Amino acid sequence: MHISFHGAAGNVTGSCFLIECRGKRVLIDCGLYQGKRELEEDNRNDFGFDPAAIDYLLLTHAHLDHCGRIPLLSKWGFTGKIITTAATRELARLVMLDSARIQEEEARYRNYKASKKKDRGEPVEPLYDTLDALNCLDNFSGTVDFMTAHDLCPGIRASFFNAGHILGSAGILLELEDTGRRSRVLFSGDLGYDDRALLPDPAPPPHADTVIMETTYGNREHKRLDPSLDELYQAINTTVARRGNVLIPSFALERAQEILYYLREGIEKGLLDRNLPVYLDSPMAISATQIFLRHRECFDEETWEVISSGRDPFALPGLHMVRDAAESMALKQARGAVIIAGSGMCTGGRIRHHLRHNLWRPESSVIFVGFAANGTLARRIINGHDEVRIFQEEVEVNAEVYTIGGFSAHADQRELLNWHARTGGPEQTFLVHGEEIARQSFAALLTNTEVHLPTLHQKFAL
Ligand SMILES: [Zn+2]
Repeated sequence: MHISFHGAAGNVTGSCFLIECRGKRVLIDCGLYQGKRELEEDNRNDFGFDPAAIDYLLLTHAHLDHCGRIPLLSKWGFTGKIITTAATRELARLVMLDSARIQEEEARYRNYKASKKKDRGEPVEPLYDTLDALNCLDNFSGTVDFMTAHDLCPGIRASFFNAGHILGSAGILLELEDTGRRSRVLFSGDLGYDDRALLPDPAPPPHADTVIMETTYGNREHKRLDPSLDELYQAINTTVARRGNVLIPSFALERAQEILYYLREGIEKGLLDRNLPVYLDSPMAISATQIFLRHRECFDEETWEVISSGRDPFALPGLHMVRDAAESMALKQARGAVIIAGSGMCTGGRIRHHLRHNLWRPESSVIFVGFAANGTLARRIINGHDEVRIFQEEVEVNAEVYTIGGFSAHADQRELLNWHARTGGPEQTFLVHGEEIARQSFAALLTNTEVHLPTLHQKFAL
């Protein structure tokens, strides 16, 4: 029995781990590397194993850094079964098709730029295209419920349990048996934490001999939610009162739905104006919201109470869903409105148009509710640049800028430690899915287990 690490080994993206047992090969996640151009080029490298030799792929959740290389895996020969929860299956389909479209656009853009140069070089092929994304959907086989054991094949049993990170997200326990030797191997997936909007608290982890856990916030504690909500409502009210627009750059999955949920709560509690105009200007976020409503089995008790009283958790009296590009462009006339659009880090998407029309206005504001990596437009605005470049144009930053930190989807250091303590003192713990500094700080806190910080393609016996 062996485990090897083929991504998220020293960084936060590209999750991909391989278990070998009794001649079968089980992959846990197959995520895209995201971030700087050089890192994204790594997506074109070999996986470090033969895709055709994989029997099963178990998917923890639908974020791109966990499912975004599945179309490539299929393109390069994978014919095994993909097993996941019902909500993850639907969200992953949306995420992979969107990713294929972005890969196609990126390749077209780079070829267009190259066509103007003397030395054109080789044409750029997309990493994968829409057809590849559609093809891999055939590999999705049955869906699984939480807390139910599934025998994949003799010697390999898998159980999914709620991770409380995004809709449908799971941790996975593998119970392995080979020539009389048994091993319980637990993958945390990405971990959420208690008392989040929409999602039930993460399930207590089962005991395990080997734990593979994420460390995104292995060196940090995040802000509490209540003061963050007060700040959100206050920022909206002061901006709208002076007829400015409130821009909220947001990820399409989970964060956009959380914001809608909190805006509805704010209205119901009388903290926001009932007729506040809100534009959800993102076709992907609109589709994701519809998928959320189809998977109510994933909601927490509070959300169920909203539904059973006949209300829609995401409906606001002044909400407009904007799919059409012309309608999105017409929003430059809006005043006193909230506009939620992607991308979260302002690296692309419709938010850039809204920033161009609002950043120079002192009456408008921008509210950042998520992580912003170095080098992104979001980070430059947060860092207080007086001017930023958008669509080849310098735009002055006169709008008020807020960064509200209480909306993280990941457990922080304290919550990760509590989770690990409940796994029952595993013999060995592998730390993944964190920057090197985060996993090293976290490693120093674990005392009752042998800690490993695996490197790319490193293999260990179980
Ligand atoms: Zn995630």
